[in-house]
Amino acid sequence: MTERIDCAVIGAGAVGLAIARRLAIAGREVVILEAEEAFGTHTSSRSSEVIHAGIYYPTGSLKARLCVAGKLALYRYCAEHDVSHKRIGKLIVATAPEEIEGLNEYRDQAEINGVNDLELLDADDIARLEPEVRGVAGFLSPSTGIIDSHGLMLAYLGDAEDHGAALALASPVVSGAVTRDGIVLDVGGRESLDILCGTVVNSAGFHAQAVARSITGIPPASIPPTHYAIGHYYTLTGAAPFKRLIYPVARRDWLGVHVTVDLGGQVKFGPDFAWIDRIDYRFDETRAAAFYEAIRRYYPGLRDGTLQAGYTGIRPKITGKGEPAADFVIQGPREHGVRRLVTLYGIESPGLTSSLAIADYVADLLEH
Ligand SMILES: Cc1cc2nc3c(=O)[nH]c(=O)nc-3n(C[C@H](O)[C@H](O)[C@H](O)COP(=O)(O)OP(=O)(O)OC[C@H]3O[C@@H](n4cnc5c(N)ncnc54)[C@H](O)[C@@H]3O)c2cc1C
Repeated sequence: MTERIDCAVIGAGAVGLAIARRLAIAGREVVILEAEEAFGTHTSSRSSEVIHAGIYYPTGSLKARLCVAGKLALYRYCAEHDVSHKRIGKLIVATAPEEIEGLNEYRDQAEINGVNDLELLDADDIARLEPEVRGVAGFLSPSTGIIDSHGLMLAYLGDAEDHGAALALASPVVSGAVTRDGIVLDVGGRESLDILCGTVVNSAGFHAQAVARSITGIPPASIPPTHYAIGHYYTLTGAAPFKRLIYPVARRDWLGVHVTVDLGGQVKFGPDFAWIDRIDYRFDETRAAAFYEAIRRYYPGLRDGTLQAGYTGIRPKITGKGEPAADFVIQGPREHGVRRLVTLYGIESPGLTSSLAIADYVADLLEH
């Protein structure tokens, strides 16, 4: 027998949950279909947990627009819903004079993106703010922060459920078909069933392309390629030597390893970047030497033996090695030609920061 529902959101990561919340609050009857036994077990629980300011993204891109709007919405949401977060700020540092041009490019792009609060720092300012950090110049980004991503997802889910949404765990979408009456999803798991959905949002993270390909009626030409890039995080043993996040200016010839500090005060370095050809979260311990070298460019006091293997995350990419980085791709009926379907691809960083703004964007695509 085929069940009928108003709206299915495929994927209970931070983005899927934000979308489900938004649609439920708008009065839609929402079922969230999640393949795993718990929500948020993939990219959303393997990130840096940074609320990004929106500095680096290209002019007019969805990443730039949704990050800046999402950041403002997220700070408001966290305050109203008691989600743990902290506006701790970030230092962007040039470790050599030849990197100062890169800093200026960041400032120009930030201003175009509407991030107008960067404070210029000289070497003395850097030493005063972060005595362990060596830099010749830099910027302080006061609107960058950190967040408890699990707490955020719980809050999104709670809001969605308060407005009638239901989360179905262990419910992978295995195939589907676009029909005249709606979209039929074939849901596997313990009790497989077919659901006829008035509306479908495909927010399945790095599986979104596979899910789209499994639904007949979605034009294959509208589905971008799938690529994966892994990032490793090392944690620092002992007390935190920094109060803020530290981001060196990116250079082509070395790893731009960042410092993030979590809400418990734990310092982590990363993520690095390597292309991989399948989902495999295993930690490659041979990366330690490259991390030590990269970190010591701005933190010369890093002692041998203090880095410990942390965790990995995998970026859901839609362009591969040698190709320019892609923007978020969020397709509505105008893009793929299927009524009442929205598909999201390549929702890598800053997807967490942007989640509330992405949800508004998706709701808008479904209304028009
Ligand atoms: C290393 C790394 C660091 C990052 N750091 C930051 C950061 O500091 N700040 C920031 O803003 N962003 C950051 N991001 C980006 C952010 O984490 C992601 O944009 C965001 O978590 C994506 O959420 P999602 O819901 O789209 O995907 P996911 O969290 O991957 O959720 C997708 C869900 O879909 C489910 N699913 C898959 N297939 C099916 C199926 N067939 N049926 C049903 N369910 C299915 C999966 O099980 C999963 O739960 C980072 C990303 C990475 C990789």
